[in-house]
Amino acid sequence: MPARILDGRVMSETLRAEISQRVSELKKRGITPGLAVILAGNDPASEIYVRNKGNGCLETGMYSETVRLPESISQEELEAEIDRLNQDSRIHGILVQLPLPKHLDAASALARIRPEKDVDGFHLLNAGSLMTGGEGVIPCTPKGALYMIRQTGVDLAGKDAVVIGRSNIVGKPMAMLLLRENCTVTVCHSRTKDLAEYTRRADILVAAVGRAGFVTADMVKPGAIVIDVGINRVDGKVKGDVDFDSVREVASWITPVPGGVGKMTITMLLQNTLEAAERAEKKA
Ligand code: NAD
Repeated sequence: MPARILDGRVMSETLRAEISQRVSELKKRGITPGLAVILAGNDPASEIYVRNKGNGCLETGMYSETVRLPESISQEELEAEIDRLNQDSRIHGILVQLPLPKHLDAASALARIRPEKDVDGFHLLNAGSLMTGGEGVIPCTPKGALYMIRQTGVDLAGKDAVVIGRSNIVGKPMAMLLLRENCTVTVCHSRTKDLAEYTRRADILVAAVGRAGFVTADMVKPGAIVIDVGINRVDGKVKGDVDFDSVREVASWITPVPGGVGKMTITMLLQNTLEAAERAEKKA
């Protein structure tokens, strides 16, 4: 029997309805959750992501602001903009759209965001919290991926989980989240020898590589849950890291691309922004 689909569109619809509900409750108390997205330069893919984030805010009743900065902006000017948003009480979440133009220092910019407004969860304090079991903001993509894994209803404790990719925004936080769920976690990367030896043992396999169709059916354990984080543009089409048609015949659950983790990422950003506004209300 082919794998069941973990449908990011359907899950997002349900979650966004819940988010809208909570937003309207906050609004009744005079608070509108607000997200500011900083976009430096004119990267076409970033333009699309930023537009989708703004639309997500509109759809759920949140306030959103896109701060467009020229490609030539200096580090000081960028950080001054972040400082301004840190002080703006209408803004509960600040996101710096990556990648930044090459001459800018992304790590320094991310560190400038107040941790409670860091809705991407990339600030060192939030990354450290995830590592040490604290209460920080969790990065949107792995948070969405874990939500999808939980929707299978499978008891995760003791399961073998393999994450392919070790980036700070996907692979590493994903591994930490699965560890929190009591999985036995292996992180594979570009220097891993005999990758398939690891992936074939995985009850849960997360692919965050950035290569279309990289994970093929022979690399997957029968009955595995396969989560495809990849977004790769091939001949104008968006493709995942997983060879969907063949892997679907082996796995028990699988996420499609598009309509999988990508959709959930923006939904989790909206959730993180809402939660930041709720926390700000409690602190006030
Ligand atoms: P990255 O380039 O920072 O990391 C890729 C990782 O893949 C690296 O850690 C590298 O070691 C590993 N890798 C590369 N070649 C490999 C190989 N041959 N064998 C094993 N591992 C290998 O990328 P990233 O930012 O983590 O993103 C990964 C993918 O996920 C990309 O396609 C990206 O577009 C996508 N992505 C999707 C979302 C979403 O919302 N769905 C969000 C972020 C990234």
